[in-house]
Amino acid sequence: IAKGDGRRLYRFFTPVLNRRLLEQFHLEQALRIGLERGELVLQYQPRVDITTGKILSMEALARWRHPERGLIPPSQFIPIAESTGLILDLGPIVLREACQQIQRWKAEGVPIVPIAVNLSANELYQEDLTHRIQDIMAASQIDPAHLEFEITESAAMRSIEQAVTILSQLRACGFTLSIDDFGTGYASLSYLNRLPMQAIKIDRSFLTEIGGELNGHSQGAAIVKAIIGLGSNLGIHIIAEGVETQVQRRFLIDHGCNVAQGYLFAWPLTAEEIEPLLRAGRIQIDETEALV
Ligand code: C2E
Ligand code: MG
Ligand code: MG
Ligand code: MG
Repeated sequence: IAKGDGRRLYRFFTPVLNRRLLEQFHLEQALRIGLERGELVLQYQPRVDITTGKILSMEALARWRHPERGLIPPSQFIPIAESTGLILDLGPIVLREACQQIQRWKAEGVPIVPIAVNLSANELYQEDLTHRIQDIMAASQIDPAHLEFEITESAAMRSIEQAVTILSQLRACGFTLSIDDFGTGYASLSYLNRLPMQAIKIDRSFLTEIGGELNGHSQGAAIVKAIIGLGSNLGIHIIAEGVETQVQRRFLIDHGCNVAQGYLFAWPLTAEEIEPLLRAGRIQIDETEALV
């Protein structure tokens, strides 16, 4: 490379890189302070029986309520929390809040369903995870049957032997376990069999293809069918993620998957917003959207 070119590259890239690192650094500092100030909030997205609309459980999803920037989605702060270790502070805040919300609803006589909390890879392999979780549970006196943990397939595959041990401990405590974003992390089937999971969540990316040009004949459709088959063979529940259309809902019902989460049924909602739905116990499924 000619000297001139190198210099030009240098001049072009360095400020950009610096700016990005600086932004990351500022964001990390802001997040650290935000966590202390209680700016992390949870939204809840129902998982429903897509034939009846009955609410079976819900997933807790973190948002950062920034005083100036508004509601920041997890895609903008979870990766930073992961790479800086801040996730080890964030995770317990999420779990504590989910437990406290269950307590509040119980006290108010709101019919509750289990809440699923996401555990990231760094949390999963944290020393003493089981005890840390048990401490939080003991403080709030929540029945472990009311809690589920979602672990991504890629997190579980990072260190499969360790994952089997840790997840077995959590299972022994009475928690429900599910594999998140399944189909994207190349878990071998023999390992899948060893993980003590009760549910598999089909990654949203496969669902999006259904209803497109190829409809039931896309690769995504084939993968969704294969995962549903896998679930019934292994005796594991299947939850479809990211269901947005009646075509996708119909496809799932036709292929034997009756549980899903997606904008078609409900967005992630604040505790206040989801309360009437919990009281009703179900979601109205609007069948009027044209079936293509
Ligand atoms: P995830 O666990 O796979 O969560 C599902 C994501 O799909 C959520 O995005 C949800 O809002 C979105 N979603 C649900 N239905 C639909 C739909 O019909 N269409 C589309 N396009 N999207 C849909 P969200 O809330 O932005 O969260 C993104 C990711 O951030 C989560 O993916 C999870 O990996 C992570 N995350 C969120 N909260 C937490 C947390 O408390 N702890 C950890 N460790 N990770 C979290
Ligand atoms: Mg999840
Ligand atoms: Mg997912
Ligand atoms: Mg995801």
